[in-house]
Amino acid sequence: MNKKLKIFLIILLILIILTVIIITTLKLLKNDEPIKETSLYSDKAVNVMKQINLYDEINNKNYSRTIEVLLEDNKLEKLYLEEYYQIEYTNINNFSTTINKLLDKKYNSEEINYIINNKKEYLNIILNMNYIDILAFKDIPNFNIKNLDRYLNYQEEYKEYDLKTVVTYVNIGLDKEGYSEYTEYTKKEAQNDITILVNKYHKLPDDYVPSDLVSLSYSSSYYLRKEAAEAFEKLTNAGILDGVIFYPFSPYRSYDLQDRLYTGYVARDGQKAADTYSARPGFSEHQLGLAVDVRSSTLPDNLTPEHYEWMLNNSYKYGFIVRYPKGCQHITQFMEEPWHLRYLGVEVATKVHDSGLTYDEYYDIYIKTQE
Ligand SMILES: [Zn+2]
Repeated sequence: MNKKLKIFLIILLILIILTVIIITTLKLLKNDEPIKETSLYSDKAVNVMKQINLYDEINNKNYSRTIEVLLEDNKLEKLYLEEYYQIEYTNINNFSTTINKLLDKKYNSEEINYIINNKKEYLNIILNMNYIDILAFKDIPNFNIKNLDRYLNYQEEYKEYDLKTVVTYVNIGLDKEGYSEYTEYTKKEAQNDITILVNKYHKLPDDYVPSDLVSLSYSSSYYLRKEAAEAFEKLTNAGILDGVIFYPFSPYRSYDLQDRLYTGYVARDGQKAADTYSARPGFSEHQLGLAVDVRSSTLPDNLTPEHYEWMLNNSYKYGFIVRYPKGCQHITQFMEEPWHLRYLGVEVATKVHDSGLTYDEYYDIYIKTQE
């Protein structure tokens, strides 16, 4: 064998041996590190776990911030351990106490997650009540927690209504006598919002007069707001083309005129009866300059059934809805008035028409911003 090759092989062998020694030493060194007690929880939480003998049980499961906070607050109740794991930690005041109170009230984790992830009002209201099936309200868009006890009372009284109906009717105010409680708009609100809702729960200022009233071509003493007046001409013309001829007989009415009318009706029929067909002053859509009563040529103060049918199917195309349709007195709080049209603009009128709802309902579900 070549001498040089021999030396090379020896060196190579030494190198291999050295490498093996180094690797083994490193491995040994690593293994020599002391085994630390590992927990994902804070030291404070770990201490409490140990005190209450749950160290192994909790550490064998996935980390939960909810569990950690409960431990840190020393509020963890063994009874609820399984539920706690399903509850998402939320940064609210007194998290631990709140969770325990809700569990005491028999809410399950799904319900608790819904409650604590909602607005603060939810908590204040629910913590002061007995258990209620809160998730039943979850998908009702116009559900307003502030009305919760009213929903429950109304539901008790009207068992035939489903929950959606209960929510809408209570939001409208139907659990209270009309005029007993109402919101009063400012003049600015009345002037700026064509879609404003006026009913027995929403009042206009006594001195509100729309700034853009114009007379109708039918009579120089009949007024509507400009936009509504123009739309009304189009509606009238469309009717003529379909052989449906109708005339306006009561468009804009001032507060004072409404007052005189209503007072006259009360004197004649008594207040209870008058309230079913005439709005009190300040509560009439006619004061908006966005409502007009129409009649057919042949029948004074009324619309023939054929004309009413035409109105239901066509007026929205020109921005008007039949505001007090048949069969809706329990919602609108007025007897049916086939002849009373309300201007809302084509877009909203079309949506209201397509929804099949009264404007009171439509407004509550789709327009009113839920606080
Ligand atoms: Zn009317």
